[in-house]
Amino acid sequence: MAEINKEKVGKVFLVGAGPGDVSLVTLKASELIKTCDVLVFDHLANSELRKGVAIGCEQIDVGKSPGRHTMNQEEIGKILVQKAREGKKVVRLKGGDPFVFGRCAEEMIALNKESIPFEIVPGVTAALACAAYAGIPLSHRDYGSSISFLTGHEDVEKESLRVNFGKFAEVGGTLCIYMGMGKLDEIILKLIKGGLPPEKPAAIVSQGTLPNQRKVVSTLKDIVKDAKEAKLEAPAIIFIGNSIGLNSSNNWFEDRPLFGKRIVVTRPVGQVSRLKGLLEKKGAEVLELPLIKILPQEDRKLIAETFAGIATYEWVVFTSANGAREFFDVFFKAFADIRSFGPMRVACVGEATAQEVRKFNLEVELIPDRSTGEDLAQALVATESLDSANVLVVTGNRNREVLVGLLETVGHAIVDTLPIYQTDFADVIDAPDRAKFIKMGADAIVFASSSAALSYIEQEEDLQLEQGAKLPIHASFGPQTSDTLKENQLSVDIVAQDSTLESMLEAIENHFQK
Ligand code: SAH
Repeated sequence: MAEINKEKVGKVFLVGAGPGDVSLVTLKASELIKTCDVLVFDHLANSELRKGVAIGCEQIDVGKSPGRHTMNQEEIGKILVQKAREGKKVVRLKGGDPFVFGRCAEEMIALNKESIPFEIVPGVTAALACAAYAGIPLSHRDYGSSISFLTGHEDVEKESLRVNFGKFAEVGGTLCIYMGMGKLDEIILKLIKGGLPPEKPAAIVSQGTLPNQRKVVSTLKDIVKDAKEAKLEAPAIIFIGNSIGLNSSNNWFEDRPLFGKRIVVTRPVGQVSRLKGLLEKKGAEVLELPLIKILPQEDRKLIAETFAGIATYEWVVFTSANGAREFFDVFFKAFADIRSFGPMRVACVGEATAQEVRKFNLEVELIPDRSTGEDLAQALVATESLDSANVLVVTGNRNREVLVGLLETVGHAIVDTLPIYQTDFADVIDAPDRAKFIKMGADAIVFASSSAALSYIEQEEDLQLEQGAKLPIHASFGPQTSDTLKENQLSVDIVAQDSTLESMLEAIENHFQK
């Protein structure tokens, strides 16, 4: 056992992780997750949250996992005490709110006994979240003046019901029952026997706030049958009461255009996926499969030479958003002032690349209709400004030969290339969502570049879907990516109009709304 050192004792935070949707986590919880040394979690807390931990944070799974039994409360308490004694900042993450049927009290008592300092951070509890996301009111001036949280028990074999449901029939108001699915028929029977009218409105929301949320709204006498027919399973909350009858026919959560769709995005390692956020707002479940990594090119001599002569170029040509981003990163390490960029004209392969350049209030003069190297070269040649002109092509390590060749042979330009980054295939084995993708598949997979498509094709063996998993269709950001997919016998089912995130989103939405 670690030595007890009063000076060095850490602290434990018993933290509510909310009901599932990660955007319902409190600011305080999210800050603690980012800064803790040890994260202790179980299956009810959304695994997405764990992606937010700092490098080096120790993660301890105390929940059920294949081949291992669930840790009991005593063991969990011991871990919390031990880690705090080592001087660590420990976050114990719990689904929903820690004090609502979360066994937080036991952990608090264990910490108290050992004089370990702790704090408790509340979370949005499942009943409140499920009601809100299903449009089911829990109270109303005329129809429901009290709200009770009750617990059944999911383990049908081991435990009998803990609550005297007959008595709660007399209490009335709105009942919210946690862990009740295993004994649903028994609970309903007791409530009716206790005096609740069989016509009383009842509802069940399962997987509340998650991309697979489902709900059934019914009456006390029919809810068991209706839940069975709909195959609703735990985790779920059972709601009973008159105000439930006021539920909205407008399902704001489930009616979002991409609700129920699982979409894979293939952003580069380390980049935050803005597309993920956009898709999630439309209701999709998003899996991340980083297929490529972008590495800065370290040819300092070439960079220094290029920058020394930067004022001599008439055109600078950007062939990708990553290239533009890296270029200005390096540029501002060499120069403090954007005016050092000079008066040259700017061409970009597509709209997403142009967006990176416009961030510096630089005008982009030329974008071809189709985002390929060939079209970019042709559009530049058509300006009739290339003859003997100095042109700088800022690029990666792939797909630049055609562009440079055409500028030189057809446009008679003097071309310098500045390879500013390298694209490498990322090992898909390391992808955080790979296991889920293999097990469940997806509705669509989005390829942001040819390199991502090639990486996917190369690593197909490590991405073999299990039987029964959904086979995804393919969405492509632009013509070059589409060509790569087709050349490798993969279908192209969705194409972004102008290679921007917004048009990709629109194309995906249109496809699934058909
Ligand atoms: N502390 C948690 C509850 C833990 S008990 C909280 O405050 O929410 C576990 C039970 O919570 C489940 O059996 C189920 O009844 C409910 N639950 C948790 N997450 C849920 C979800 N996303 N949708 C529906 N019910 C959920």
